[in-house]
Amino acid sequence: MSFESLGLAAPLLRAIAEAGYENPTPIQAQAIPAVLSGGDLLAGAQTGTGKTAGFTLPLLHLLSARPAAHSGPRPIRALILTPTRELAAQVEESVRLYGKHLPMRSMVIFGGVGMNPQIDALRRGVDILVATPGRLLDHHQQGTIDLSKVEFFVLDEADRMLDMGFIHDIRRVLAILPPRKQSLLFSATFSDEIKALAERLLNQPRVIEV
Ligand code: AMP
Repeated sequence: MSFESLGLAAPLLRAIAEAGYENPTPIQAQAIPAVLSGGDLLAGAQTGTGKTAGFTLPLLHLLSARPAAHSGPRPIRALILTPTRELAAQVEESVRLYGKHLPMRSMVIFGGVGMNPQIDALRRGVDILVATPGRLLDHHQQGTIDLSKVEFFVLDEADRMLDMGFIHDIRRVLAILPPRKQSLLFSATFSDEIKALAERLLNQPRVIEV
């Protein structure tokens, strides 16, 4: 199994080669084709398995292959929610790394820092937003973010989000996202609560576990 055989676009294959990756990890070998096929995904994967590339690579591929449906200012087309700032920053770094040969803009937003620089950056236009739930909702409440054009939604480390008490925030985020979108849920464990969340969020998902 090679990255080439997964059908990823040339600019992504270049970035992968430059990162020094030779072969997809097991989660990548399963998640990449599943996401490229356009369906929802429920994935059981721990950190360290390469799960971040498992969703960022196909997401970048699909976004670059499909021009934005919307004209005018660049809308946010992909939203990735993570439980912590550290993880949000890491995921956004991965998006930048794998997307470095694509004309894609990404940004990370989390709490504990000023709103204004984030508002300015959002205004300049972002394709892929990585965020923690609380600050995302703050922006929504203040009307400084438009999530109405989101095509892809990723819930990363969903079990940690629930452990940290984010279930209400997650529900509020789901309520403001467009109903038609491709959704991916990653979790290290599958409790009843995760299954209920998956049921609510995902539409006939492919299920993979590594
Ligand atoms: P993650 O589980 O997404 O946090 O990734 C864990 C680490 O594996 C990161 O430091 C990645 O840079 C690295 N990594 C991801 N995919 C591959 C791959 N296919 N080959 C080698 N290293 C990888």
